[in-house]
Amino acid sequence: MRLPDKTILITGGASGIGLATVQRCLQEGANVVMADLPGSDGPQQAQALDAQYPGRCAFLPVDVTSTEQVDALVAAAVGRFGRLDGVFNNAGIGGMSPAEQYPDADYLRVIDINLNGVFRVARAALRQMYAQGSGSIVNCASILGVFGQSATAAYTAAKGGVVNLTRTLALEGAAHGVRVNALGPGYIDTPLLAGLDPAMRQALIGLHPLGRLGRPEEIASATVFLLSEEASFVTGAHLLVDGGFTAGKS
Ligand code: NDP
Repeated sequence: MRLPDKTILITGGASGIGLATVQRCLQEGANVVMADLPGSDGPQQAQALDAQYPGRCAFLPVDVTSTEQVDALVAAAVGRFGRLDGVFNNAGIGGMSPAEQYPDADYLRVIDINLNGVFRVARAALRQMYAQGSGSIVNCASILGVFGQSATAAYTAAKGGVVNLTRTLALEGAAHGVRVNALGPGYIDTPLLAGLDPAMRQALIGLHPLGRLGRPEEIASATVFLLSEEASFVTGAHLLVDGGFTAGKS
């Protein structure tokens, strides 16, 4: 097992990549806090997983746009399991609009969840991890944190911000025994991509030399690696897990 007795907090844990990572961390021996919006079906999912892994999975509600809620989340996670060894900063939303038509409210919401939310959760986690003298944070970025894409100004700005925020947090965390890395998925088959018409889906598949979309479990595997001691000399990295999407680009 890669995460025996570790306590891991996963935001956006009730769906897609987050849920797959919750399940994988439990398999790897961790106590897991699944955090997601209050209206999600996270409580039921966590209850079922807790029955499978007794006493090791708890749901806690959070909206990552609220500093108050994020700080309370980290305090509650520590209250529940006694410490915090790892965080997967995964909560995120999509959003598409040509830049010249992007309404303020829509643009700012993507930035507030996908970039500011990552900072809020990392900040609260770092305080706890510095007190412990150890920890590992994985921030979910994207191939769109490295490359632009039309009609995704807010998303690409946020994900690019996550990649460079990660580098700075890694520099600050190093002296405290805390590693901070980013993970850059290619297109992954999750509810975030629901609603794509078949032609668009096929076009996205064609961008990946491996000839398919990624699976949430494949992102969970890479996240567990970064959270675990196997990545003890990895910090400040942006690990691309993208089926070759970026290999042919410079
Ligand atoms: P999902 O929509 O399946 O999961 C995201 C989860 O985050 C949902 O449960 C969502 O709730 C939750 N969430 C949204 N807003 C908030 C908030 N304010 N506070 C707390 N939780 C919130 O998406 P994915 O699993 O696909 O995405 C996970 C991460 O991976 C995101 O950061 C995304 O940008 C990134 N990513 C995804 C890719 C993909 O192709 N799928 C590619 C590259 C990166 P709700 O469902 O209610 O909105």
